[in-house]
Amino acid sequence: MLKERGLRHLSTGDLLRAAVREGTPLGREAKTYMDAGDLVPDAVVIGMIREALTGRTDDFMLDGFPRTLGQAEALDAMLDGVGAPIDAVISFEVPRDELVRRLGGRWTCRGCGRSFHEVSSPYGGEPCGATGAGCDLHQRDDDRPEAVANRLDVYDAQTAPLIGYYEARGLLRTVDGAAPADVVQAQVVQAIP
Ligand code: AMP
Repeated sequence: MLKERGLRHLSTGDLLRAAVREGTPLGREAKTYMDAGDLVPDAVVIGMIREALTGRTDDFMLDGFPRTLGQAEALDAMLDGVGAPIDAVISFEVPRDELVRRLGGRWTCRGCGRSFHEVSSPYGGEPCGATGAGCDLHQRDDDRPEAVANRLDVYDAQTAPLIGYYEARGLLRTVDGAAPADVVQAQVVQAIP
């Protein structure tokens, strides 16, 4: 979907997990927050996004960023600086109990990062995209039940206020994230101008 649109996918979660895997100082700092389901401090993720965007002129989709008002304001300042406005902000709406069910049943491959779900998309023995052998599945520390509950509380306290922030600017598009995957995909494509 992103490729068809010529959009680069930039996920702060993926960037942080890569730093944790590589054992960089940033990764070591981030890991304790991530395992508990807390947000990594603004200065760390803003620095990461600034680095990823520096010198790039292609179109991109940010995934999982911004998650606080401070991050949103920093992003505005970065984009103002290069004259690249935000086209749309997508909010995926999913009931809390459905999120708990989804995250609790998610298994992720250590090699290629693909996710499977015990019920909706079970692993069928496909080869790992990185090693070619079977996928090495594990449950992410932040998909364990205590961390999931904390992530949802953190979302309500720190991220939900962004809905009003972007609604006031006429940028907010909502997508029914509880719909089947192909319907969600169609809604996302429609939401991108
Ligand atoms: P995700 O894969 O987007 O769910 O991110 C996994 C974890 O990485 C989150 O629970 C946070 O601990 C951390 N993280 C990812 N993006 C951000 C962000 N924009 N701000 C702070 N922490 C983040």
